[in-house]
This record gives sequence, C-alpha cells and structure tokens, in this order.
Amino acid sequence: MTQTDFDIAIIGSGISGSALGAILARHGQRVVIFEARSHPRFAIGESLILETSEMMRALAHFYDVPELAYFSTENFMAYAGTTHGIKRHFGFLHHEKGQPQNPAHTLQAIIPKEPHGHELHLYRQDTDYFMMSTAVSYGAEVRQNTAVQDVQIHEDHVTIFPAKGEPVTAKYVVDAGGFRSVLAQKFGERDFNLQTHSRGMFTHMINVPGHARANQIQSDYDLPFPMAEGTLHHIFEGGWLWVIPFDNHAESTNPLCSVGLLLDPRIHPPRPDLSPEEEFFQLYSAVSQHCQTV
Ligand SMILES: Cc1cc2nc3c(=O)[nH]c(=O)nc-3n(C[C@H](O)[C@H](O)[C@H](O)COP(=O)(O)OP(=O)(O)OC[C@H]3O[C@@H](n4cnc5c(N)ncnc54)[C@H](O)[C@@H]3O)c2cc1C
Repeated sequence: MTQTDFDIAIIGSGISGSALGAILARHGQRVVIFEARSHPRFAIGESLILETSEMMRALAHFYDVPELAYFSTENFMAYAGTTHGIKRHFGFLHHEKGQPQNPAHTLQAIIPKEPHGHELHLYRQDTDYFMMSTAVSYGAEVRQNTAVQDVQIHEDHVTIFPAKGEPVTAKYVVDAGGFRSVLAQKFGERDFNLQTHSRGMFTHMINVPGHARANQIQSDYDLPFPMAEGTLHHIFEGGWLWVIPFDNHAESTNPLCSVGLLLDPRIHPPRPDLSPEEEFFQLYSAVSQHCQTV
C-alpha cells in the first residue's frame, strides 16, 4: 500500500464538503480540504426543507458531531447565530398579465407545528464558514484559495494537483466542488442532454419592501402566516422569482434578503446588451406593471 500524505482529499469546502470533512476528521481520518475561494463567500441554496434539517440531526447523532445539528430549527438561535431567517411556509403567488392577483391562485404550504414549527433560511456565507471551521476543529487541514486543477487516479491512491503548492497524495478523493466539479469534467460525466430551459440571476438585497404587503396578503387571503415569514415564490408567464428574507424575525441581525429570478429563455431570451442588474429591474418593472401584487 502506498504511503499517502492524507487519507481523504476533499475538493470544495461548501456545506457538503465541510460537513463530510468534519465527520471524517472526527473519526481519526487524515483529511485535507481544498477550496478555490476563501470564506466567508457568497453561496445560494438557502431555503431548508424538513428533510435536510432531519438529515443533519441524524448525521450529528450517528457520527457524534453535534455541530451538524446546529442548523436545525431548535438549535440555530443558540448555536448558529442570528443572521439566518425563519421559514414557516413555502408561499406561492401566481400572477397573470393584466389581471388582479387571484386569491385562488395562492398557496401556502406550511411547516408543521410539531416538532418545531418552522425551518430556516440559511445565510450560507455563515453556515459554510462555520462548517469549515468545525472540520478544522476536528483536525482537518483546509487550504483556501487553492483550486484543484487535476486529479490522477492510481490503483491504490490518488494524486491531487492544486493550482499552487506541491501535488498531494491521498487514499481517496471526494469531489464536493458543486457544478464546477473537476472529476465530472475530467471523466465526461456531465450529461448535457438533461439541460433544462432555464436561466437564472440572483443576489442579496437590502430594503426589500416585503413586509407590509406580506401582512396585507395574509389578512386579505386569510392565510396562516405572513408571506414574509417563509420562502415566497412569485410565479408568472415564463418564470418565477424567489424571495428569501433573513430579516424576518425579531432577533435577526441580518438586513439582507435573497432574491432570485428563474426564466425560460424561450420566453425571456438572454439580453447580452444589459447587465444582470439592468435586466432584472427591467423585467421586474415589466411584470409589476401588469400584476397588482408583486
Ligand atoms: C438557483 C438555485 C437555487 C437553489 N435553491 C436551493 C434552496 O432553496 N434550498 C436548497 O437546499 N438548495 C438549493 N439549491 C441547491 C444548493 O445550492 C446546493 O445543493 C448546495 O449549495 C450544494 O452545496 P455544496 O457544498 O455541495 O456545493 P457548493 O456550495 O457549490 O460548494 C462547492 C465549493 O467547491 C469549491 N470548488 C469548486 N471547484 C473547486 C476546485 N476545482 N478546487 C477547489 N474548490 C473548488 C467552490 O468554490 C465552492 O466553495 C439551489 C441551487 C440553485 C442553482
């Protein structure tokens, strides 16, 4: 068996690579994590579903890494901080051109009262940084600002080629690099026949004027919760817009709100003549002219 520098090399220190690194290091494995960027860094994937929360609880229990459960509803305020939003529902408002918003085209799929009553809007720059720090605290070595450029697979080990520094050997490699996966590219594992008709633009905003209108919708439509206390989806012809506030509870210390627009390019073709910001506001004002509730 070849002597290697590490047992496991992980590419990417997002929430998945870092959680895995924490578990493996906790159980005595020699772990190195490569990260192309540096923390804290912008990431999306903010609206938790019940299953994710439950999975984190289960992993925390099975692998004796309590920090994995810090993002669960019952723990986040005490352990993960006040920058995350709460999510009491998945809310949907359907808009039709030239028509007032129809209450019958509104849905609020609520998080059950038991056991915890709400899920979370994860502020990923904090959760991912925390998870990477947890991996470090259990003994993982993290190399930030160090992109992996290539991986060579040998019979009983792998060699990692980072953009800077010497090549590193490990018994195993895990690619948690997300959509830029080095291994998927190297082995041609991306199936472009599965591409969808969608394009997206997203950012974090401040002063999103959601709350007053959200409360009004709740009382007008007799909904269980204000729309601002959950993940709100505005649906319209050829697209939808997500609104994921982090500032939607009394203890929040984060003024940001995640806003993202997903479009069908057959109906809303790309506009290379505009910046994403210009295109966003142009579409926003076109849609809001026709819809009374945006
Ligand atoms: C538009 C959109 C909306 C979404 N909304 C939700 C949602 O509401 N809820 C939800 O649960 N999920 C959502 N997701 C999915 C979610 O974003 C991902 O599942 C999640 O972020 C994956 O986390 P990860 O740690 O695997 O990858 P990432 O968070 O992408 O982390 C990968 C890391 O690897 C690093 N990396 C990449 N290549 C290299 C390299 N060569 N060398 C070193 N480092 C490298 C990157 O810098 C990055 O830090 C959404 C996804 C999209 C695209």
